[in-house]
Amino acid sequence: MIAKRAEAFTSFIVMDVMAKAEELQRKGEHVIHLEVGEPDFSTPQVITQAATDALADDKTHYTHALGLLELRQAICNFYFQEYGVNIVPEQILVSTGTSPALLFAMLAILDSGDEVIIANPRYPCYQNFIRAAGGKVKEVKTYPEEGFQYRPKDIKKKLSPRTRAIMINSPSNPTGVVMSKDQLRSMAEFDKQYIISDEIYHGLVYQDRAHSILEFTDKAFVINGFSKLFAMTGWRLGYCIFPREFSKVMQRIHQNFMISASAFVQWAGIAALTKAQADVAKMVSIYNERRRYMLTRLKDMGFVIHVEPTGAFYVFADARRFFTDSYKEAFRIVEEVKVGVTPGIDFGSGGEGFLRFSYANSLENIKEGLNRLERYIGKYR
Ligand code: PMP
Repeated sequence: MIAKRAEAFTSFIVMDVMAKAEELQRKGEHVIHLEVGEPDFSTPQVITQAATDALADDKTHYTHALGLLELRQAICNFYFQEYGVNIVPEQILVSTGTSPALLFAMLAILDSGDEVIIANPRYPCYQNFIRAAGGKVKEVKTYPEEGFQYRPKDIKKKLSPRTRAIMINSPSNPTGVVMSKDQLRSMAEFDKQYIISDEIYHGLVYQDRAHSILEFTDKAFVINGFSKLFAMTGWRLGYCIFPREFSKVMQRIHQNFMISASAFVQWAGIAALTKAQADVAKMVSIYNERRRYMLTRLKDMGFVIHVEPTGAFYVFADARRFFTDSYKEAFRIVEEVKVGVTPGIDFGSGGEGFLRFSYANSLENIKEGLNRLERYIGKYR
């Protein structure tokens, strides 16, 4: 019998769209993927070279449970350079992606029945990490005109003696919106609870810069990793930065459930943080060109972009003037014009009527995909 808790895990709806797209591709159709949330770039060569060197150098054994000290030190240096915050290697857990790091953070702070506040809409996995650790999900509604950012007074209404954490994500998946300093500061005021700040899209920012929650409070868990900024999704490398008092428990959790992240991949991670700046700058400039193009085209077609996305690689477009059932439409779009898009409902009820478009694809494919979409949308205009 399948456990009730396991049954309650929700699936990624975008996977259903991708399965449909793949079925069409097997039949010989040319599908353009604007649904996928991963960089289309190859991992920079300085990084793959570091991994190859590490393998040749026998870096193929377990490492410290919290991660290689050299990598954790490099992460400390990176957070100091980027944000001017002082952290020490004892505050960092390196794991096989940000995903397990987030699960372990939840295990470290939640007892059965403890509550975590998340926004609606938000990245669809958050609720499942909370549930896996025995926690309860408390949703706070957010509004398109405000870039789907929390209203602090709405968070206050949801606080209870069981509230342990508030999840934030900037730049955001699905909206691409970057939180301002003031917005982060107002989140940091909830310092009786922990702020869990998913900073995985940091660095992929096209105006100003993103600020870390650690600039405003120490009572935070930061989730970050290598998948997006360094085009390393398949390497599986990410980390969590936590308040010092969690060092021993995080080490114990990781010893038991993971032992350690891969050694040679961690050496590659050091190269990413210290040697890949030029590669990252190139990718950021290409993403930005695609972002501008996509925004112009979507607006011309009549989609509403309430707050301009200046980070990550997504546009969350309001399609309510055309239709409301985003799930049904995403399937129709892929079937009729062979373009994969992510239905807004994937991110919670607050995303209904929206579509998420990813610009982690070549400009040529984006142009062709949007031409096809324009033909599709034509029937509603
Ligand atoms: N957080 C967000 C907001 C994401 O979009 C993703 C990847 N889709 C992750 C976390 C997980 O990333 P990874 O496990 O590859 O580090």
